[in-house]
Amino acid sequence: MVDTLIVGGGTAGCVLAARLSERPDHTVRLLEAGQVWSAAAEMPAALRDATRLPIGPEARWLWRYPATLAASSDEHPAVEGNLVRGKGIGGSSTVNGSYFVRAPAADFAAWSAALGGTADWSFEAVLPAYRRLEDDRDYGDGPGHGRGGPIPVRRTADPTPVSRAFAAAARAADFAEVPDLNAPQGAGPAEGVGPVPCNVDGGARVGTASAYLLPALGRPNLTVQGGVLVSRIRFRGTRAIGIDYRRGETSGTISADRIVLCAGAVESAALLLRSGVGPPDELAALGIPVVWPAPVGARFDDHPEIGLEYLLDIPTPAAVPLEYVLSLDDIEIRPYTVPFAWDRHRLGVALMRPESAGVLQLRGADPLTPPRIEHRYLAGAADRGRLRDAVALAIEVLHRIPGAYPCHPPPASGHDAWLRANLATSQHLSGTCRMGAAEDERAVVDARCAVHGVSGLSVVDLSVVPVPLSRGPQATTVMLAERAAGWLTS
Ligand SMILES: Cc1cc2nc3c(=O)[nH]c(=O)nc-3n(C[C@H](O)[C@H](O)[C@H](O)COP(=O)(O)OP(=O)(O)OC[C@H]3O[C@@H](n4cnc5c(N)ncnc54)[C@H](O)[C@@H]3O)c2cc1C
Repeated sequence: MVDTLIVGGGTAGCVLAARLSERPDHTVRLLEAGQVWSAAAEMPAALRDATRLPIGPEARWLWRYPATLAASSDEHPAVEGNLVRGKGIGGSSTVNGSYFVRAPAADFAAWSAALGGTADWSFEAVLPAYRRLEDDRDYGDGPGHGRGGPIPVRRTADPTPVSRAFAAAARAADFAEVPDLNAPQGAGPAEGVGPVPCNVDGGARVGTASAYLLPALGRPNLTVQGGVLVSRIRFRGTRAIGIDYRRGETSGTISADRIVLCAGAVESAALLLRSGVGPPDELAALGIPVVWPAPVGARFDDHPEIGLEYLLDIPTPAAVPLEYVLSLDDIEIRPYTVPFAWDRHRLGVALMRPESAGVLQLRGADPLTPPRIEHRYLAGAADRGRLRDAVALAIEVLHRIPGAYPCHPPPASGHDAWLRANLATSQHLSGTCRMGAAEDERAVVDARCAVHGVSGLSVVDLSVVPVPLSRGPQATTVMLAERAAGWLTS
């Protein structure tokens, strides 16, 4: 019997636990810090309803972190922000915007190059997993797609007026129509405006808990426990042998043959650091004994987003947050469906492959102390220039929507202060435990997600992605977990 202990029942953790436990010769135990519901129907309505983003101040199913989005300079104060992550079975897939778009082939070429040119992460290598995970209700029988997989994927057939107006304006600005944003390369235009593939069924958000894990809960070889905060990984020498946890007022230790961290890009990194896998200087300063030196948290990627508010008097029926998107190579322009107040709407203008990278460090060894997170957005002149161009493009499209006009357009000069004043994050933090070859000094895990330098320990979540993704990360996280499940059972 193989005993796999999975830390974190989030987007990737649910996929992995469900796939590993399909094999009766594997025993799987999954520990989740948040609540575990036994069926999708038992989840709170706010989590099921795909038209709401359940991340308001009252939400009790979130991790919340302060983050410095842009550092201070001689001219500008720092831009502070807040990150959230889903805490509860399904993790961030239980609270997110249900945008389910694959990363393009060029990202996998860059991913393969980051691994020294291996074909393991080419688009051809990942496509079978992208196909296996989906039940594409629009294009499932088309080339490069899948039918019958756990995640239902569909695009709106009846967009709300604001999405319809944006799409018409983008077409009028000569952008191509992209009916299928998940089409494989060459099967249609690569750039343009199109309906967003969403993991939604009958108005309900279908995260990986309801798609993968909850239907598997009856298996005798699968144990799932909620309300368990894993605080540290235990090692014998460099072999991972178990974890320490806290559950309410109690605490304990569980041993395992093999441990897989699926705690997300913030918490998987924090767990490794607290357990002694990280930069030796940083660990020594906090009194944490070093098990293995590794560049955990030394850099991460995320997508900066400029919020461009505009006025438009238009009906706003309930809809998924993003029904249409204008996708260019390294830019996304997102016409959100949710009005911010009365007739005030928002375009999100996101830079998908920024040059500037962030840093994550522990502030202390206590698991309840949130790490220090610095995005370092807008640090490079190239990123600022690209965002300026993208905002100009967004305004050009906006001007083609009859009756729409921006509330606070950027001034002709002093553009940097305006970018900073309207800066936000897409909440797509990735790459804190980068994949790469053992001799790559930036790498934490190998091409199959095993942590370098130690044994019995892997990281399978968005932490490991070694390059910025040109599209939102949810679909790629599910694909990654599907692939890792194959390696962990072979
Ligand atoms: C509000 C929001 C909206 C988003 N919208 C989209 C979108 O529409 N489309 C898109 O592509 N991407 C979106 N994203 C990003 C995407 O959802 C995430 O990047 C992705 O789901 C991350 O998956 P993961 O498996 O790495 O981590 P998560 O899904 O965050 O899972 C981590 C899990 O580990 C658990 N955990 C953490 N630490 C511990 C511990 N110490 N002990 C036990 N359990 C622990 C957590 O509770 C959680 O369940 C959004 C993110 C957010 C926060």
